[in-house]
Amino acid sequence: MLREGDVVQLIDTKQRRYQIRLREGATYSFQKGMVSHDELIGREEGCYITSSMGERLLVVKPTMGEYILKMPRGAQVIYPKDIGAILVLADIFPGARVLEAGTGSGALTLALCRAVGDAGRVVSYERREDFLERARSNIVGFFGRMPDNLVLRNMDIYGGLHEQDTQFDRVVLDLPQPWRALDNVSRVLVGGGILVAYFPTVLQVFRLSRTLERHGLYLQDVVEVLVRGWHVAKKSLRPEHRMVAHTGFLVCARRLSP
Ligand code: SAH
Repeated sequence: MLREGDVVQLIDTKQRRYQIRLREGATYSFQKGMVSHDELIGREEGCYITSSMGERLLVVKPTMGEYILKMPRGAQVIYPKDIGAILVLADIFPGARVLEAGTGSGALTLALCRAVGDAGRVVSYERREDFLERARSNIVGFFGRMPDNLVLRNMDIYGGLHEQDTQFDRVVLDLPQPWRALDNVSRVLVGGGILVAYFPTVLQVFRLSRTLERHGLYLQDVVEVLVRGWHVAKKSLRPEHRMVAHTGFLVCARRLSP
């Protein structure tokens, strides 16, 4: 049942997606007319409604990936296609203790919190307070409250870690110069623990790969993720004409026992 405060997604006949947060008495206006929120509250997800201009709209809650693509950004977010790969490459499991930097807009943080579950813990570092506030509001917007398994730290990870951050199973870095964090993060990563770093240029891959060994880390994989959507219509079944050609590289390393 859809309730006040829920984020819902309206999908029109051209597959355009609109996200709105339900508020009693409110109206959503867009180029295909208007929709009253009251008409949606109390309805079951997966229903169709018709806008004031006769456009048929499918009503579903956004998935986490869809929410991420629409949420307000300070820093550029990691795309859902890369988030999926990061969760598997870093082998994020329920109960895992994960160290993340930087929080940015909180896209990856959302996914980490969900993957580690109630028994896990995510500690995320961000040096810019304004970005951290944006991330906090994106995270609360998705979960409805601040998750109990998340700690946000307004700190520069190159400068050192908080005294309580002593042991982690996984480290995930989305920073311009991840090699500068290696000294701090490798010390708190358990033997066999996994570090995954994400960045846009191959120069960063090169630099990081040269630095890992010095910090007791074994380079395991470097990958990129290409996703090609397909166009499916009555008389056409083909790849989409456009795709996202490049986002970033993923580097995966394992901590050697000291
Ligand atoms: N993964 C995030 C985006 C991170 S963008 C997401 O999916 O939303 C990179 C972030 O790292 C920026 O917000 C930047 O402010 C932060 N950052 C850069 N250097 C940092 C450092 N030394 N310590 C902490 N955060 C840092």
